Amino acid sequence: MGIAIRHFDAVVVGAGGAGMRAALQLSEAGLKTAVLSKVFPTRSHTVAAQGGVSASLGNSEPDNWHWHMYDTVKGSDWLGDQDAIEFMCREAPKVVVELEHFGMPFDRNPDGTIYQRPFGGHMSEFGEGKPVRRACAAADRTGHAMLHALYQRNVRANTHFFVEWMALDLIRDAEGRVQGVVAMEMETSEIVVFQAKATLFATGGAGRIFASSTNAFINTGDGLGMAARAGIPLEDMEFWQFHPTGVAGAGVLITEGVRGEGGILRNSSGERFMERYAPNAKDLASRDVVSRAMVSEINEGRGCGPNKDHVLLDITHLDPEVIMSKLPGIREISIKFAGVDPIKAPIPVVPTCHYQMGGIPTNYHGEVVIQGRPVHGFYAAGEVACASVHGANRLGTNSLLDLLVFGKSSANSMIDFIKKQPEDLPELAMADVERSVARVARLDGQTNGVQVHEARAEMQRVMQAHCGVFRFKDMLAEGVDKILEVEKMVAKTEIGDKSKVFNTARIEALELENLIEVAKATMISANARTESRGAHVRDDAPDTPDTPNGRDDKNWLKHTLWFRDGNRLEYKPVNLQPLTVETIKLKARSY
Ligand SMILES: Cc1cc2nc3c(=O)[nH]c(=O)nc-3n(C[C@H](O)[C@H](O)[C@H](O)COP(=O)(O)OP(=O)(O)OC[C@H]3O[C@@H](n4cnc5c(N)ncnc54)[C@H](O)[C@@H]3O)c2cc1C
Repeated sequence: MGIAIRHFDAVVVGAGGAGMRAALQLSEAGLKTAVLSKVFPTRSHTVAAQGGVSASLGNSEPDNWHWHMYDTVKGSDWLGDQDAIEFMCREAPKVVVELEHFGMPFDRNPDGTIYQRPFGGHMSEFGEGKPVRRACAAADRTGHAMLHALYQRNVRANTHFFVEWMALDLIRDAEGRVQGVVAMEMETSEIVVFQAKATLFATGGAGRIFASSTNAFINTGDGLGMAARAGIPLEDMEFWQFHPTGVAGAGVLITEGVRGEGGILRNSSGERFMERYAPNAKDLASRDVVSRAMVSEINEGRGCGPNKDHVLLDITHLDPEVIMSKLPGIREISIKFAGVDPIKAPIPVVPTCHYQMGGIPTNYHGEVVIQGRPVHGFYAAGEVACASVHGANRLGTNSLLDLLVFGKSSANSMIDFIKKQPEDLPELAMADVERSVARVARLDGQTNGVQVHEARAEMQRVMQAHCGVFRFKDMLAEGVDKILEVEKMVAKTEIGDKSKVFNTARIEALELENLIEVAKATMISANARTESRGAHVRDDAPDTPDTPNGRDDKNWLKHTLWFRDGNRLEYKPVNLQPLTVETIKLKARSY
């Protein structure tokens, strides 16, 4: 077929925090490592992370990993796997100090230790005490600082970066062993095979399935689409986090760190309404809880503005010095996107799609696992993966932590695996390569098709209307039919511009083929789960003593697995057994 093949020990798809933390470990172990990214590495979405990275360093007040673990399990509404959660919370202080030694410019306390701020759902005394300062921060640009520190370290370690390369498909042989990826150089549209002993997906999130999202335009779920097409199931895709404070209209994120620094949410009468919904944690309750409270206020007529369609985030009572030093980026975003200087007036905000809790099923070693068995040569880490530490709802700052912990652990698993492989790579299995090439050829040959932007807009409308903050039985069922109709549109997309040089129309069409897989997985999994848990809340889930707040542990304490083939669903048990401590017992979740 005349396709060039490049050989590596390891190929990492994605240069965000997860991909770069993994690549650093691999390159420093002396392995020949390729990192592919659609954008320059430091432009990956991790750069936009504002608030912080969690670790129970206890720099300002007592804290420990047991409390962090408790909060994470509770935040997950008990859907998180407790072995993975224990592993992450125990590793946290180590990986954060390691990052500090890589050159991460954290803010400092007067005594020189890393500055930490409170964040939603992070409490002391196993949820009984007050909010605790656990989020390690570099002003409100933590992800930016982190990504640059990791990139520089990778340059030093001689990682091979392939910038503006888009991975198209995973390559598996007849036995299902993963051999690498098919990729396209965006500058030339040339298709090249990257063959490797081990392959890691670190492609980040897919928030672009929704109309309103805090996610970057490149967050199109490519890793999920590639995995689904290669027969790998997607786990817990019904769980999407809506961040409480997106700028109304624009969707741009205002970090929870604003509430960590003392910001307050108010309704049209100026009331601090979170006191009614979460008397203890108030504005620092978990994200799903705050988002639902905001939507309830708006739905009940207490929204602000001429259309009563948002609430206000108020920091006018804070010292302007604090705003300038701790939240400078937020002030800038607020002035640019909301036309409001938060020193003088409150910021209009609404809940906006922010984070996917689900993803490619892995264990805490970063190995992709199907039916209890690792897939030979395949790993995933970061937002694309489901370890599952976030369960039904992620706590703020636990994602940057997840990138560091599982980026590192997956790379360590890959190093062990690669050492055991024969020196020479096996013969390349061509079937998947041919399928991938045919997919691009279909697009180039399509006539009388559907415009990419039309199909994408329709998908985003359907997801937003049928699968949002609150979910309704009939709307979900209708949503399934509608999204399957959109799938037919996507199968017939056509691009007007067929040129080879930096053809962004072709890239967007290929991205849409990934987004639609994520949208289907989400809608079908959400329609099937008839309880309320974490971020997934249904109107028809009864609130009884056995099913508090609609959570039905008897029938639904299990992970969803969606298979692309026939839109089949399977379920697997939640791991309630931590590694070294007692299980965190199920109880109703309140803040
Ligand atoms: C605005 C915002 C603020 C946030 N703030 C915080 C915070 O304060 N604390 C926190 O813990 N979490 C935060 N989060 C969440 C967290 O930042 C993300 O979950 C995390 O950064 C994802 O990292 P990642 O490495 O998995 O992927 P990303 O950083 O999204 O990187 C994905 C990489 O994959 C590449 N890629 C994707 N598809 C392909 C393809 N087909 N071929 C080649 N390359 C590909 C991209 O080019 C990119 O390099 C925030 C998220 C957002 C959107």
